[in-house]
Amino acid sequence: MNEILIKDLECFGYHGVLEEEKRLGQKFIVSVSLKLDFIKAIEHDLCQDTVDYGAVSQCIVDEVANTNFNLIESLADHLAKEILIRFALVEHVTVEIKKPWAPLKVHLDTVSVRVERGWHSSYIGVGSNMGDSKSIIEDAFQRITSLAYNKDVLLTNLITTKPYGYKEQNDFVNGAISLKTLLYPKELLHFLQAIELDLKRRREIHWGPRTIDLDILLYDNIVLQDEELIIPHPEMCKRDFVLKPLCELNPNIVHPLYHKRVCDLYQELQTSNTYEKTVE
Ligand code: ATP
Ligand code: CA
Ligand code: CA
Repeated sequence: MNEILIKDLECFGYHGVLEEEKRLGQKFIVSVSLKLDFIKAIEHDLCQDTVDYGAVSQCIVDEVANTNFNLIESLADHLAKEILIRFALVEHVTVEIKKPWAPLKVHLDTVSVRVERGWHSSYIGVGSNMGDSKSIIEDAFQRITSLAYNKDVLLTNLITTKPYGYKEQNDFVNGAISLKTLLYPKELLHFLQAIELDLKRRREIHWGPRTIDLDILLYDNIVLQDEELIIPHPEMCKRDFVLKPLCELNPNIVHPLYHKRVCDLYQELQTSNTYEKTVE
């Protein structure tokens, strides 16, 4: 990946917790590192294949002037997201903001914060067996697509499957979504949970009937486990209704723990003696 650096850009804005900071405003010094691939620009020596750092600088100056945040942490995060959304070639951003005249009783040079954001590749499993499942899934897909922090959102064909685990319920409609997101894994989980809630998801019986279920299957190559979130999804390799749609999106996605492609995992599942078949 190549890099463009903007160092110590002078900006003026009305950020801070104190009333005087909000009223009088102050100077903020912003430095940015942009990671992108500009090999094509080098090859042809054309500016259309790289990012206009003048336009990025102007975007930063305008955003610092026209927004209001209590914390420079929030301002830095806002700038990182804006740059990623507006400049499509940029894949990763680091924003550092220095506050040269932080209102403190001690002497120091500057206080600064640094935030990193980037586009991440993620896969989401979708399922529904209550209400008009196809249009509920379509609705969830539209909500995921319309968030500015997501892009390149794709939904697979939807398949009808037999219930898994808890059998005394209607057939399911399942599919998968691939996307690029600049949300961190926990933010993505909370975003998906808000959609589930909005679409009247109730948690009554474990693995029971639901209007919509949105599970994070994969997020880049990360391996993460805590009480709230496990990635890769721990059950994905046992579920044909997950692996089949993933193969449709891209058979060559590699599972970061098993180091196998999803098409190979799907084939292995179908020949294993504990296979619980739900897909025709
Ligand atoms: P399963 O996770 O086996 O498919 P489920 O989808 O029916 O079961 P839910 O009731 O939707 O389970 O979720 C239970 C909890 O799982 C959620 O509150 C969430 O915090 C947690 N969770 C852990 N890892 C994930 C993940 N990768 N995606 C979504 N939720 C997850
Ligand atoms: Ca699930
Ligand atoms: Ca779930």
